[in-house]
Amino acid sequence: MARPTLAQLDLDALVHNVGVVQRLAPGRKIMAVIKANAYGHGAITVARALHNRVDALAVASIEEALELRRAGVEAPILLLEGVFAAIELLAAAEQDLWLTVENEMHVAWLEQARLPKPVGCWLKVNTGMNRLGVTPDQAPAFFARLQACDNVADGTVLSTHFACADDLDSPMTRNQLDALGALDIDAPRSAANSAGILAWPDSHLDWVRPGYMLYGNSPMLLPHANADALKPVMSLKASIISLREVAAGETVGYGATWTASRDSRIATLCIGYGDGYPRQMPAGAPVLIRGQRAPLAGRVSMDMVTVDVTDVADAQIGDEVILWGDDLPLSEVAAAADSNGYELLTRMPSRTPRVHG
Ligand SMILES: *Cc1c(COP(=O)(O)O)cnc(C)c1O
Repeated sequence: MARPTLAQLDLDALVHNVGVVQRLAPGRKIMAVIKANAYGHGAITVARALHNRVDALAVASIEEALELRRAGVEAPILLLEGVFAAIELLAAAEQDLWLTVENEMHVAWLEQARLPKPVGCWLKVNTGMNRLGVTPDQAPAFFARLQACDNVADGTVLSTHFACADDLDSPMTRNQLDALGALDIDAPRSAANSAGILAWPDSHLDWVRPGYMLYGNSPMLLPHANADALKPVMSLKASIISLREVAAGETVGYGATWTASRDSRIATLCIGYGDGYPRQMPAGAPVLIRGQRAPLAGRVSMDMVTVDVTDVADAQIGDEVILWGDDLPLSEVAAAADSNGYELLTRMPSRTPRVHG
């Protein structure tokens, strides 16, 4: 029998969350962002589940895109950082990948290449993130060069990326949208990530680019009604493998950092930081046992954690424990570890089996 430690994936929830995107941004094209192994869920699994439900996919690198092509995924795939060397253009053209174009070298490479067919391009405009993209002033000239280039397919999209869309009080998003809107270029446009889709309706434009929300999580800093309909795709699960009584005054775990303030019942779970549960998770952080929250007691080990189940009636060896998922939102768990859900998901190691029904 296998170690009962796993990331259970609910692919119906994934499809449901695409429906939430469609409801919030009706009629807009959807590019599902599945970089970093689909935020740890498994890029091939997720791409297959999204087949014919979204208009395109997006990944960070050509390696991620080619892995999907080898698995038979046929949807258009955008490389969010473009190519890293001119030599990648040939494979991109052959495999129908779309390119982010965001600097002079990207355009020069396209102008000089000999390609079997034109590639789709997304011209990225820097409107305030200051990470990637040409300036709004440069954008018309870059766009004209792409239009004139035989290696570039018709229909270049203008895109930008938000720095603060998770924060409704920040003026940044409005400024970024205004900068994109001010461009006098006749092209389809894209700005909205998950936070834009959830909270900034006039950012939806022609294409939306959901990532985190597809997996059922809200990126918003504060609770937002539009996120209530999302369903978590991943539930991280383990089991109680040992139970013991610990007298008041005794300690639990490495470093003896946790001391029982009363006679306590301590459950040991078969999951640790080697399975993707963060080591910095503090004592007191919740896990879910028998539908009830119970607090971590002591440090997270590589393969185990210990939990105070004194107040969970009938907790038994073999009980399933949920570390995040249904009724225990990933974003809340991540905040307890001073991290965010994006990081926890993308750090999930291959050791933890992804299981779906
Ligand atoms: C990662 C990414 C997204 C998706 O962001 P979420 O916050 O996960 O929705 C969208 N656009 C670009 C350019 C990205 O890099």
